[in-house]
Amino acid sequence: MFLGDIVTEISHDLLQIKGGTQLLIDRLVESIKVPIKCNQPVVAIKVRSNYTEIDYLENGQKQTRRCDYVLCTIPFSVMRKMELEGFDQRKIDSINNTVYCPATKVAFHTKENFWSQQGIKGGASFSGAGVRQTYYPSVKFNPERGSVMLASYTIGDDADRLGNMTEQQRHSYVKEVVSNVHPELQQSGMILESASIAWGNYEWSAGGCTVHWDEENYTASYLEAARPQNTLFFAGEHCSKYPAWLQGSIESALEAIYDIVSHKSASILTTTYSNSVQTIQNRALQVAA
Ligand SMILES: Cc1cc2nc3c(=O)[nH]c(=O)nc-3n(C[C@H](O)[C@H](O)[C@H](O)COP(=O)(O)OP(=O)(O)OC[C@H]3O[C@@H](n4cnc5c(N)ncnc54)[C@H](O)[C@@H]3O)c2cc1C
Repeated sequence: MFLGDIVTEISHDLLQIKGGTQLLIDRLVESIKVPIKCNQPVVAIKVRSNYTEIDYLENGQKQTRRCDYVLCTIPFSVMRKMELEGFDQRKIDSINNTVYCPATKVAFHTKENFWSQQGIKGGASFSGAGVRQTYYPSVKFNPERGSVMLASYTIGDDADRLGNMTEQQRHSYVKEVVSNVHPELQQSGMILESASIAWGNYEWSAGGCTVHWDEENYTASYLEAARPQNTLFFAGEHCSKYPAWLQGSIESALEAIYDIVSHKSASILTTTYSNSVQTIQNRALQVAA
């Protein structure tokens, strides 16, 4: 998997959306014809025999909604802290045991793209001391507004270490380490702003991505993660054989939608069939009478 990821990352298969990744979300939103409600966190999921009940907060008040079908894309690292009812034990084990790997990014908004004077027009550098990868923008910025460098991108143990620092400590630490490669960062006014995120501590993901490995072995844990519970279906990178890629989450969502549609037509067929059997039985009873 490691080799697979590296091959993807350096191949022509890795695409960038012109105009920014937000466009993907905007186009998906355009195609959904019902209102999308944000800031209403789900706090409980209850699986019933032929429907699913969802408890969520609206302006801090708990509301309950009964749904024929639910496609849940909430990461398991978040779900394992919720109230869950009606799930079988194997599914609960999968929710509790799916392994998540932390990640952090620290970005600097700089007065200028001083690295271009060294012939750097994109790509990355690697530093030690747990700061790892520094990425340079491959697009041009308006020089009046300065530039941006992704000073540090870490995953795994390094991300945990940076994640445990306060934001201020994290920014200063990364500045010190990357200054060994780029002393310009120490010039007064060179860094206009710093921003960072530690996905391991982020409330709505509680991790960067899933890993299909336990201590030693590869586990196809995504198959169990994707297994539905009655009318509750699952999708997301954790349900895909391509974890940590948008492609994986999209493909798993398409598979789940196919499963919902098949389930729905099967239920309609079963209902129609049992209605027909009932009609025939009634007719038979009438004839017999
Ligand atoms: C640092 C980093 C770099 C990456 N780089 C790339 C890259 O270059 N290319 C690429 O293809 N992929 C990349 N990925 C991976 C990609 O971002 C993920 O695979 C993808 O976003 C997963 O989508 P998802 O829908 O499964 O989960 P998410 O995008 O995490 O969506 C889950 C959603 O559930 C919501 N949620 C959580 N809890 C609740 C709740 N209680 N109630 C309601 N909603 C809730 C969250 O707010 C979130 O919107 C990167 C990931 C990280 C962390």
